[in-house]
Amino acid sequence: MRSTVISGIGSLVTNDPSLGGGPLGLLSDAAVVVADGRIAWVGPAASAPAADEGFDAGGRAVIPGFVDSHSHLVFAGDRTAEFNARMSGAAYTAGGIRTTVAATRAASDAALDANVARYFAEALRQGTTVLECKSGYGLTVEDEARALRIAGRHTDETTYLGAHVVSPDYADDPAAYVDLVTGPMLDACAPYARWVDVFCERGAFDGDQARAVLTAGAKRGLVPRIHANQLTEGPGVQLAVELGAASADHCTHLSDADVAALAAASGTTVATLLPGAEFSTRAAYPDARRLLDAGATVALSTDCNPGSSFTSSVPFCIAVAVREMGMTPDEALWSATAGGAAALRRTDVGRVVVGARADLALLDAPSHVHLAYRPGVPLVAAVWRGGERAA
Ligand SMILES: [Zn+2]
Repeated sequence: MRSTVISGIGSLVTNDPSLGGGPLGLLSDAAVVVADGRIAWVGPAASAPAADEGFDAGGRAVIPGFVDSHSHLVFAGDRTAEFNARMSGAAYTAGGIRTTVAATRAASDAALDANVARYFAEALRQGTTVLECKSGYGLTVEDEARALRIAGRHTDETTYLGAHVVSPDYADDPAAYVDLVTGPMLDACAPYARWVDVFCERGAFDGDQARAVLTAGAKRGLVPRIHANQLTEGPGVQLAVELGAASADHCTHLSDADVAALAAASGTTVATLLPGAEFSTRAAYPDARRLLDAGATVALSTDCNPGSSFTSSVPFCIAVAVREMGMTPDEALWSATAGGAAALRRTDVGRVVVGARADLALLDAPSHVHLAYRPGVPLVAAVWRGGERAA
């Protein structure tokens, strides 16, 4: 078992307040020892134990790898024209998903797999070491199961989203589509998924349909998460809390009761904010400050998908969250690491503590604050995943 000491860390985010200052557990002049894929030691560089190999961070900042808990990467085709139209004045609706469905169904397994690999690699280069991935562009039994099989080659965090929109094949009979999603499609997909999700929104699925989808998934051992309150206020957040979902994602349009419910459920249901979607649809951002002040647990993720948020960059989301959503740089960093881990109910990632998976990102900057201070600048200089240098 070879060990590596990463020394000369000017500023280390551990996300463990017992290790250092503030909620981020910040340490200066720190070192981390990695062995067997795990964090073996964390502390002041001056007292670091010897290791087989050394890496000098040169005074730069090290943070936990980003945990991006929301993406849709099993797709084919392109929606440049739709984006261009939207930026020229057209409105965003849930219906654009159907464009990607047609292209995805027509694509080969190899083409889909190559696309997933490409975007996972792109995210990794930007510091993302855990990336959740949903189905939802197949909308047939075979195509949804295929999407999850392919996603599962790249991540353990796979989410069954047969209820992304009503399949165009069932446009005249949405109830029959819900029966399919909660019946034969679920049977085919459950073996390949950890999570079940539904797009609860006008134009997609209403509260009763969303409840049926999540309840059926839970009976098969899948843990619920939900696309909630993105375009309008609706029942999604309350449903998430009632069902003990791991996360309510988007949370852009919230009533006071929704905020209170998320705060009361802060140990169970994470409010996952996805500012790439508002950026790319030219919509008003969610109010992170309101959720944080109420006591909700907040995660920050990309929602990377070809229609409404085609960015794999967590640093971009951090910059937007700080500039536009009322988050401090510390809060945004926490939400993109420990918050994402909470949304995936993981304790082995999102923190730099002894025993955690050695997922780390080295920044070409003296502090994590530069992620917001220097927007759009590629600051991630090196990435370790499971102790291996990955980028
Ligand atoms: Zn989404």
